[in-house]
Amino acid sequence: MTEQALPFWRRWLHAFINWFDTGPLTAPADGTLLPEIADRVEWARILPFIAVHATCLGVIWVGWSPIAVTVAVIAYLVRMFAITGFYHRYFSHRSFKTSRAGQFIFGLLGASAVQRGPLWWAAHHRHHHAHSDKPEDAHSPVQHGFLRSHMGWFLTARGFRPDLRRVRDLMQFPELRWLDRFDILIPVALAVGMFGLGVLLERVAPDLGTSGGQMLVWGFFISTVACYHGTYTINSLSHVFGRQRYRTDDASRNNWLLALITLGEGWHNNHHHFPSSTRQGFYWWEVDITYYLLKVMAWLGIIWDLKPVPVAIRDHSPRRIA
Ligand SMILES: [Zn+2]
Ligand SMILES: [Zn+2]
Repeated sequence: MTEQALPFWRRWLHAFINWFDTGPLTAPADGTLLPEIADRVEWARILPFIAVHATCLGVIWVGWSPIAVTVAVIAYLVRMFAITGFYHRYFSHRSFKTSRAGQFIFGLLGASAVQRGPLWWAAHHRHHHAHSDKPEDAHSPVQHGFLRSHMGWFLTARGFRPDLRRVRDLMQFPELRWLDRFDILIPVALAVGMFGLGVLLERVAPDLGTSGGQMLVWGFFISTVACYHGTYTINSLSHVFGRQRYRTDDASRNNWLLALITLGEGWHNNHHHFPSSTRQGFYWWEVDITYYLLKVMAWLGIIWDLKPVPVAIRDHSPRRIA
């Protein structure tokens, strides 16, 4: 009997059971995933992800203070920059160069945003560029709808297993493979550090009105969740809302609001047109805070060889619409 021929209640029952099924993966010998399990949500493995969200409710008990909110905003900005400047523009697209030590520090900073390791992130992202808005694209809102493009895609068996053949250039560094394997250590250290900061401030500056628990909830959990969903808008909303300057054979858009939230990633149609450019806001009025910070790092000699967007590609491309 096929799925369609089943009575509706049994189809719902099947869907419900599949949703919770976290049985062992039966991968074929070549390492690829069976299609029928690849897109199933891995509930047992995503409990920490759910817990990070739920812990934000701790604010009911710990309250707030100006210092805790300030630290949360700083933690958001630093980690959003680490995602856009390092995980995206450095590891995924190699749009500038740095030293080997610099590369590892960029990886550590990126991992503090709790979005897995640099190999995981870059492998999935390169896959996105290779198949943008085609059926194979794991997070295309055009193909799979808002929820899956926003966060459903990385909660599945396929999401947990990036195709590491796409990041052979990064795999040659054992320190990056180590970081990717033990990526969770970095956020745990950050959470402990935030708690310690709160305990310290409570002791030395009680007038600030903060505590270990409060700093943990604001500085780690709330700012992590905000950074999560800010990042996810580029996969979901910026392939739906905004303007297209270039015909890129996908649904990518330029969106100033998303560019502000994500420190420059909202110029996503520009980015799909010329992904190897360090800069994503192609004109002075396209605010790209990540690019400005990377320019400062270049002046300081921390990074170099930032790739520009050639004027011919920016202004005279046959794919230009407006
Ligand atoms: Zn995209
Ligand atoms: Zn990209």
